[in-house]
This record gives sequence, C-alpha cells and structure tokens, in this order.
Amino acid sequence: VLYRKRFWVLEANAVISRKTWSEQMNRQTGSALSVDFDQARQFDPPIGVAVDVRPGIRRLVAPNPSPFTFRGTNTYIVGTGRVAIIDPGPDDHMHAEAIDRAVAGQTVVAVIATHTHRDHSPLARAVAARYDAPTYGFGPHSHVRPALPDEQERLGRSNDVLFNPDVVVEDGDRIEGDDWALTVVHTPGHTTNHICLAHEGTGALFSGDHVMGWSTTVVAPPDGSITDFVASLDKLASRDDRFYLPGHGDELANPAAFVRRLAAHRRQRGEAILDTLKAGERTIPNIVDRIYGRIDPRLSGAAGLTVLSYLEDFVGRGHVTAEGGPGMAGIFQLSS
Ligand SMILES: [Zn+2]
Repeated sequence: VLYRKRFWVLEANAVISRKTWSEQMNRQTGSALSVDFDQARQFDPPIGVAVDVRPGIRRLVAPNPSPFTFRGTNTYIVGTGRVAIIDPGPDDHMHAEAIDRAVAGQTVVAVIATHTHRDHSPLARAVAARYDAPTYGFGPHSHVRPALPDEQERLGRSNDVLFNPDVVVEDGDRIEGDDWALTVVHTPGHTTNHICLAHEGTGALFSGDHVMGWSTTVVAPPDGSITDFVASLDKLASRDDRFYLPGHGDELANPAAFVRRLAAHRRQRGEAILDTLKAGERTIPNIVDRIYGRIDPRLSGAAGLTVLSYLEDFVGRGHVTAEGGPGMAGIFQLSS
C-alpha cells in the first residue's frame, strides 16, 4: 500500500492525510490498519441525470452534496419497462423532477428505501403517490434503546420518522418485476431497519449506507449499533456479491475483501478505545482526543458518537461500567 497522496476518512467522515492518520493510529494502537478510499473519492457524477450502471440499472444522483453525503444521494432505477426505485432520496423538488424525467414512459411498480435517514427515504411518499406504487422497507425508523433528552434534536435532524412502508419486508424476501428481482438482506447497524438489496443476474448488491466506497459509515446510538453493524459486515463478507452499489459514491469492486477490512478496522477501533480506558481515560471527549488526535471541531461530535457506540457495546457485554448512564456525558471505566 502506498503511503503518499492517499486520503483516509474517519468515522466522522473527515478527510485527513494518511500520514496524519497512520501517525495517530500508530501512537494509539501500535499499528495502522486503515481502509483505502482514495480511488472511490474520484467519483464525479452528473447531478440530476440518470446514467446506466449496468443493463437494467441506472443511477441518478440527488443535488444534496455535503460532508456526510459526499456528491449526493444515489437513487437507483432498476428494470426497463416496469421499474423499481431504490432510495428516492431527500424531499427535494429538483430531484423529484429528475426522477420524473428518468422514468418517463416507464411504469414505477415499487419504491424501496434502504433505511429511514432524511437523505434516503423522504421522497418515497411523493414518488409512490405520483405513480401509485407501493413503498417497501424493513419498517419505520426505530431505536436500539430509548433516546436520551440530549439526543432528540440530532435524531430529529437526521431521521425520517414519517416513512412507514406499504409493504414490510424481511431478510430473504424477494421483490420482483418483469425483468428484475431483488433479494432483501437485512443489515442492521447504521440504522436498525437498514436493508441491502441483491440484484439477481448482475451480482450487484445495493448496499445503502451500510458499506460505501468513499467513507466509513457513521454508527451512532440510539438508532445505530456497532454490535449489529459489525455482525452485518460479517454477514456481507460471507456472501458472494460481485460488486456493491452504495447510497453515496461509486460502485465497489471485490466487496467481500473490502468488507472484511472494514470489520477488522472496526474491531481494532474497539480495542483502541479499551486501551484508552486502561490508560485511565474516563470521558468521551478525552477518549476522542486520544483516538483521533486533533480533528476538525465540526467532526468531533460525530467521532464522539462513534466512541459512544462502542462504549454502549462494552457496557452491554459487561466489560465497562458507566456512571450517570451510558450517554455522551457518562463517566466510563473498565469493569473490575
Ligand atoms: Zn444513512
């Protein structure tokens, strides 16, 4: 692996140079196991114009670029005559019009959400109503544990609590049209209701926000769970999908090997957090400082949520105790 001009991304989606990253990792953990996003960050798609990804699969990028959505949300159109729309995207009239243009002359028969974040599912209601098509999803937004008072505002900003699918799907269910079929793969972790969709014939897996090529995924309690997230990575690593089509960014080749690296990276991050507790750190801000070093203050909040996700996992397994409850303000220490 080359050490120059490589870009790396924190769970907080902050881009930092690999040198800085590996120095931080070396200082904290004695090794530098990281994930390479360099090539995928070249992705520069047209916005609002559907492009062919494979025969029978088109990608339409929404006009919502940001540090958390990269170039924007990928909406996928599956099939040729009677089509499915995967992740209609944010509630944005420009994107609704772009979908209209992309499906002109075709019949929309299914509107599917991979999960209920505001950049993926809100437009589902309007698109489904316009084409009189049912919505599909694992279920409404839900939490692993009740939300704490100081989490409400953030959750309100990021979650689409109005999505309630007409058709509730489960792991292994098939959704099919005339010239396409999708199999549901439940992958909780980023959200409890996150699904991937395996496209029969091409070997594509629509991976939503569970696996992306440009960044690691934010896993934030109480709707996200690192325990579930890593288990879902292991589940994908055991499949033989040929490539992934993520919710943000370009397609991913050799996905099983990539997913195994992601899982190893997450496990190592957990070990590094335990090491900071062994070294005497007790609070999330101090652990973030030790693990991530000096990072952009705008991103330290997301880094803190990732650390909280691990700590909640450790508390759940009895490895760590939390005074004042396992929230962002908790005081943590290793169980004796
Ligand atoms: Zn998401």
